[in-house]
Amino acid sequence: MGINASEIKIASHLIEEAVDATSAAIHASPTASRLLEASGLHMPRISAPAILGEKVGSLLTPDKIKAFAEDLFGQLERRPTISHELEDKLRATGWNQSRKQAIAERAIFKAGLNIDGLEGIKDTRTLYAELKGAPAARGALTSFDNARKEFLETTAAYNKAVVGPVFADTYGATSRLVEQTGLVKPRLKISNELLGADASYSDFTVNYSPGIFDESAVSLVKASAHELTHHEQNQLQLFLKADQMDIGAQATPEQIQTIAAWFKGLNIETSPQSIARGLTVRAGRHLTDEAAERAHATIQSMDDISRMAEANWPNRQRFQLLKHFEGRASYGSDAQGVALELGHPLSGPALNHQLFGLERGAQSFAKYSQNTGVAENYASLSSKQKGQFNMNVLADLNEALEDAQLKMKPYFKAYRASRHESEAFANGDLAASFHPQQYILKSGFTFDDL
Ligand SMILES: [Zn+2]
Repeated sequence: MGINASEIKIASHLIEEAVDATSAAIHASPTASRLLEASGLHMPRISAPAILGEKVGSLLTPDKIKAFAEDLFGQLERRPTISHELEDKLRATGWNQSRKQAIAERAIFKAGLNIDGLEGIKDTRTLYAELKGAPAARGALTSFDNARKEFLETTAAYNKAVVGPVFADTYGATSRLVEQTGLVKPRLKISNELLGADASYSDFTVNYSPGIFDESAVSLVKASAHELTHHEQNQLQLFLKADQMDIGAQATPEQIQTIAAWFKGLNIETSPQSIARGLTVRAGRHLTDEAAERAHATIQSMDDISRMAEANWPNRQRFQLLKHFEGRASYGSDAQGVALELGHPLSGPALNHQLFGLERGAQSFAKYSQNTGVAENYASLSSKQKGQFNMNVLADLNEALEDAQLKMKPYFKAYRASRHESEAFANGDLAASFHPQQYILKSGFTFDDL
């Protein structure tokens, strides 16, 4: 009983898929490796051998960036606008405000400060239980819950109409770029954890903030080219290490572990699975001298920056904390609450110290602890007095914020000027320069319009 060509094609495609999905596991199991070798299917799928040539040089050359940018801009141009009905619904539910707030809350949460402010996503079931005997409060809670449900449904409709299709366009353009460059196919993900950034990169994965899919096409193309440059850097670093270890077409599990430990020592997140995928595409090829030099330089610059980031961490934490209080004192109009916290007899001294520094912190605590009487009687103040009170609290916070920003400046300057970031920013700018006339994503409006 013979099998025909198309069945073979389907079968080998399925096997290839399985090999791709489990390559790390297969490499780790001697029996599986042997069986695979015997089957003749051990030659892993290589994305673009002809393009890579005998030696691997820079992959994201200007012409490739141009092709990618034009491809993605073209896709985004052809996107239809969302319906007016959905647009109206989004405005009516205050969807943008909630999302802005969610981003700010996540930033605070991620900074390890986790101070209140999670009202919008609190599980209301426990509150219902607590409020059994209070019908009025229950009524308010029910309407809040209904509004939240409507908000979530609207968001889902919006994601389906805009975020999903735009993500698919990005995925398509990235796949075509991969085929033309010999880049290892990166994973693309939507992540809620980006601290307000457009996108980030680690471990062969580009993470996009959902917000970027409905802002401008330029931001999306720019961020994509930027993060794909980090991906290329990561791939070349891997290839450099493989060259140094004299790894041929097939790496052993021990070699993969050695490389993983090397990346870990450099604070560059790259998992054994990604390493296995990368080495599959490498297939024993070496870097050109130029690409090896570039890979070296980016390793050095990432190492320098990660050291600086560590040293900058206390400034960053102070900045996040100040931002939280400033947000509450201004938009949240909770200057009273802020003042009471700053003047609190137990937690006040440490808090003032962290926000304003040692000397200013002591002065500030003395001031706020003397003022707690005023803050406690806030409700009885005239509106003019309230305005003055709020302004004083805000002025203190803003002054400290300026100082915190000043202290972080050297870090941001070094980060922006570092070799690996300069490369990424340059590619991002180059990609953005190919934007067509109509460059705002056709979602009907932009984030700031809402
Ligand atoms: Zn970057």
